[in-house]
Amino acid sequence: MRVGQGYDAHRLVEGRRLILGGVEIPYHLGLLGHSDADVLCHAVGDALLGAIGAGDLGTHFPDTDQEYKNISSLVLLERIMELVEARGLHPVNVDATVVAQRPRLAPYIPRMAENLAAVLGLPQDAVNVKATTTEGMGFAGREEGIAAYAVVLLAPGPAEWEPEDTGF
Ligand code: MG
Repeated sequence: MRVGQGYDAHRLVEGRRLILGGVEIPYHLGLLGHSDADVLCHAVGDALLGAIGAGDLGTHFPDTDQEYKNISSLVLLERIMELVEARGLHPVNVDATVVAQRPRLAPYIPRMAENLAAVLGLPQDAVNVKATTTEGMGFAGREEGIAAYAVVLLAPGPAEWEPEDTGF
């Protein structure tokens, strides 16, 4: 078994879409970044890369590469999954936390978990997404940005669940 953890944070700005776990959330601010700046996917991606000892997201998908400009981070996760599978491993479960003062994320969490489960080839109950505020403290509390944490567990062998053809 292998375990990995990931952390990411992006700045909230005007004129960008807010995408978390591949779900577009209606809000007047969005996350700034080279890709779609989906912090949740980035934290999960870094956790996967950590678990296989393959560095981090920035090394694999540099923000100087035009190929990744505004790319859906679910596509980045698909590519990372190829690396995981190439090592003869598959995810067992994922647990993640999004840290945001606003907007309220609860209504969107089931769809985020669904997207992650589809890309990672996991059953729904093996992907847990949580959201928390920081009660106004720190950069997330001041609504300057959104952060995400994730841990994943990998086990040897092929996935027990077939990854869906997500079409991301
Ligand atoms: Mg990022």
